[in-house]
Amino acid sequence: MVEMQIAARGIKDERVLSAMRSVPRHIFVPEEARAAAYGDYPLPIGHGQTISQPYIVAMMTSLLEIRPQDRVLEIGAGSGYQAAILGRLAQEVISIERIPEVAHLAEKNLATAGIMGVRVIVGDGTLGYPDLAPYDAVLITAATPSVPSPLIDQLAEGGRLVAPVGSRDLQELVRLTRKGSELSREFFGGVVFVPLLGEHGWEH
Ligand code: SAH
Repeated sequence: MVEMQIAARGIKDERVLSAMRSVPRHIFVPEEARAAAYGDYPLPIGHGQTISQPYIVAMMTSLLEIRPQDRVLEIGAGSGYQAAILGRLAQEVISIERIPEVAHLAEKNLATAGIMGVRVIVGDGTLGYPDLAPYDAVLITAATPSVPSPLIDQLAEGGRLVAPVGSRDLQELVRLTRKGSELSREFFGGVVFVPLLGEHGWEH
C-alpha cells in the first residue's frame, strides 16, 4: 500500500511513510471489509461514515508538517485511522467525533492497534477544543463550506490547518498557515469527503 499508492505518487516525507507502514489499517475497517483494507479507496465504517483513501490520509498528514513535539487537533475521528497516523508523529493528538458510537469505535480501534497519546472526544468539532488550545496542527477530515472560525482562533503561531473546503459534493484541499496576524492559504486539488455537521459546518 505505502510503496505503490503513496510513495509512487510522490509523497516523500519519510516520517509519514514510516508511520503509515507501522499502523495496521485492517484493524480500522469493519470485519467484513478486512480483505479490502489496503485497497486504493475509502471504505464504509458504518453510520454513513467512511475511512479515507490511504493516499489522501498520507497527503493530508504530510501537508500538516508535524514535528515530534506538536499538539494536534483532528475533527472527525471516524475509524480512528487518521488519528493513529497522527499519533505516531506528534506528542499529543485530540480527535473530536460527533457520533458517540463512532467515537467509541475509534477508541476501541486505537487501543487494539496499541496507539498511545490519542484522546477521542465526543462533541461538535466545529467549535474546536479550547481547553487544550493552541494547536500546532489542525486537520478537518469532513467537508466544510468554510473553515470554522473557532479552529482558526485555536491555531498556534506557525500552526498549519488542513481542510477539504467546498460544496457537499466536491471540495478542495486547503492549507492555512498562521504567521503572526496573517494567514497564508494554499490549495492542493479536489477531494470528496462526508459533510462536517455542526454549528460552523453544514446544518444537516
Ligand atoms: N478521519 C476518519 C474519517 C473521517 S469521516 C478516519 O480516519 O477514519 C468524517 C467523520 O467526521 C465522521 O465520523 C463524522 O461523524 C465526523 N463529523 C462530522 N461532523 C463533525 C463535527 N462537527 N464534529 C466532529 N465530528 C464530525
